[in-house]
Amino acid sequence: MNIYDLAIIGSGPAGYAAAGLAGRNGLKIILFEKNNIGGVCLNEGCIPTKTLLYSAKIYQHAKESEKYGVSCDAVAFDLPKIIARKNKIVRKLAAGIRAGLNDADVETVGGEAIVRKKGDGQNAMEIECNGQTYSARKLLIATGSETIIPPISGLAETGFWTSREALETKEIPESLLIIGGGVIGIEFASFFNTLGSRVTVVEMANEILTGMDGELSALLRNELTKQGIEFRLNTTAVSVSGRRVEMENANGKSVSEFSKTMVSVGRKPVLTGFGLETLDLELRGNGLKVDEYMQTSRPGVYACGDVTGFSLLAHTAVREAEVAVGHMLGKNEKMSYKAVPGVVYTNPEMAGAGKTEEVLRAENIAYATKRLPMTYSGRFTVENEQGNGICKILAGEDGAILGVHILGNPASEIIVVAGIAIEKGLTVEDLRAMIFPHPTVGEIIKEVSRHCEGET
Ligand SMILES: Cc1cc2nc3c(=O)[nH]c(=O)nc-3n(C[C@H](O)[C@H](O)[C@H](O)COP(=O)(O)OP(=O)(O)OC[C@H]3O[C@@H](n4cnc5c(N)ncnc54)[C@H](O)[C@@H]3O)c2cc1C
Repeated sequence: MNIYDLAIIGSGPAGYAAAGLAGRNGLKIILFEKNNIGGVCLNEGCIPTKTLLYSAKIYQHAKESEKYGVSCDAVAFDLPKIIARKNKIVRKLAAGIRAGLNDADVETVGGEAIVRKKGDGQNAMEIECNGQTYSARKLLIATGSETIIPPISGLAETGFWTSREALETKEIPESLLIIGGGVIGIEFASFFNTLGSRVTVVEMANEILTGMDGELSALLRNELTKQGIEFRLNTTAVSVSGRRVEMENANGKSVSEFSKTMVSVGRKPVLTGFGLETLDLELRGNGLKVDEYMQTSRPGVYACGDVTGFSLLAHTAVREAEVAVGHMLGKNEKMSYKAVPGVVYTNPEMAGAGKTEEVLRAENIAYATKRLPMTYSGRFTVENEQGNGICKILAGEDGAILGVHILGNPASEIIVVAGIAIEKGLTVEDLRAMIFPHPTVGEIIKEVSRHCEGET
């Protein structure tokens, strides 16, 4: 029988990155995908949301163009065209992934894959898909994650949205309630608010974007409030009945009406449908337990991406895939989560890498905060009329950069420098001594290092 070196279940960022790398290194690979190549990230996550948000940003810029001395009459948007462009981009990028997999000689099978025999040192694993059995010496589980639907009374009976339905909408709801103020919820809030919905975000915590820098999250919330989004913090949605949503906070219960309700309270690893029971793997939290080489508790079985329930970000998934395949090829690079960048693609953008002040305080790590308004960057001032923002660097006692947090466009691009600095253990002095191109918004990193030495 034909035995593959590696079988991969799931073709999201973890699965396709692993397949391409392993294939290019001469391993014989089979990749199973039950939906669309590219997984959640390409088909209903990162790429579609950023495409919609970019259209919204252009619309916002056009409406505000007077600030830059440019007149645009009758600024309007065309939702079907925005959605069609999103679909076109997904198709184009999917074709790119398929071509990459072909080049790497990866065999792909469309269907749900289930492990039927776990194998041992002598015998290969057996995986069933579309009634056929495939044998493989190693397995990588990259089944991703799915939306959590909270147990809110009456929710199931209403036509609520998750991110999937919101991405395919044919109309902009007059009013929209988003349950959950995490990254996905806030990005959709920004999109629908810009296109004219009256958006309310209900969040049970005392701030949006839990896990990101608290100070910048509050500043972003203020910016979005100015743009028209209403936030109800420390508040829980308890029941839904048609358009009526009952919410509860310390002051009691209240009812408000919305044209549409969207649920965005988080995602959970997909642990069913691929034969977890056969493999008998250990769990950590709500995901698959892995070691620093992305190996599960069973030798020869690896897991990467959202299924580990750890980072739930596409770029982490890709790095995990590189570490896992590297380990299979005898390269013992360990996975590091020291500097995973997190980005919120609102307008303005917010991004962070490394530890937040909240984490440093909780871990009792001594640190100094070095910060400047983004307007210290000439380019930021040029491109953001009346724009606000902050860049802050958190440094340890030895000057090592522990965290960088930025509010202001284009934080998503600048944060790359910070991630590298943190991962490589650079100090504030190291960054100060670098030459940044002028004028760029990225110079703010050098400015913070230069202007604030020694400040706490
Ligand atoms: C709305 C939204 C916006 C997002 N925006 C961002 C962003 O801007 N940046 C970012 O980094 N992350 C973002 N994410 C998260 C990102 O999409 C995920 O972290 C990423 O997709 C995880 O990759 P993965 O390979 O682990 O799994 P996935 O992309 O979830 O892919 C898993 C694949 O496995 C397949 N599968 C599952 N079980 C089986 C089976 N038994 N047989 C065959 N196939 C199977 C599934 O069909 C799926 O295609 C976003 C997510 C959402 C929902």
